[in-house]
Amino acid sequence: MAELKIEFFGSPALRRKAKEVVEIDDELRTLIAGMYEAMYEAEGVGLAGPQVGVSKRVLVIDVKEEAHPRFTLINPKIVDLGKETEKDEEGCLSIPGVSALVERFTTVTVEALDEHGQPFRLEAEGLLARCIQHEVDHLDGVLFIDHLSALKRSMLVKKYKSTQAEEASGSRDRPPARRSG
Ligand SMILES: [Zn+2]
Repeated sequence: MAELKIEFFGSPALRRKAKEVVEIDDELRTLIAGMYEAMYEAEGVGLAGPQVGVSKRVLVIDVKEEAHPRFTLINPKIVDLGKETEKDEEGCLSIPGVSALVERFTTVTVEALDEHGQPFRLEAEGLLARCIQHEVDHLDGVLFIDHLSALKRSMLVKKYKSTQAEEASGSRDRPPARRSG
């Protein structure tokens, strides 16, 4: 399989609502393997199908916590959100070079299928809970900047565009993406 390319802000693929996976087969597992590769290469902690131009409800996550080795979520559904929220720095592999404080629920319960079609349920908190909310958003065409005020969003988009212009002219090194999905 050809190497997967990450779609960047402005790509219509990022705004489409992804389709439910109906068959978990080798083709899907090849896609998943490619998604892990693309995520690690970009130094991200999560990646969703639409971010590689594939309109399928598939996520890969690795927040590098010992208690939670990397895992795949197919057709994930958030079945419970905690009562508390918190703001923390968040970035996105599809909008590299910028980040913002985003309010998310501190705990989340998700149900999904793994790459072998086995259903599982996971209660997550902290960075993992944030990452799951960020990635599930991608399946519905939602980006982290959509959670910001209109003013903050337009400032961030402006900054992103100038960052991209500088990068294209080769005048700047991109800092490694941290906590990006
Ligand atoms: Zn993202």
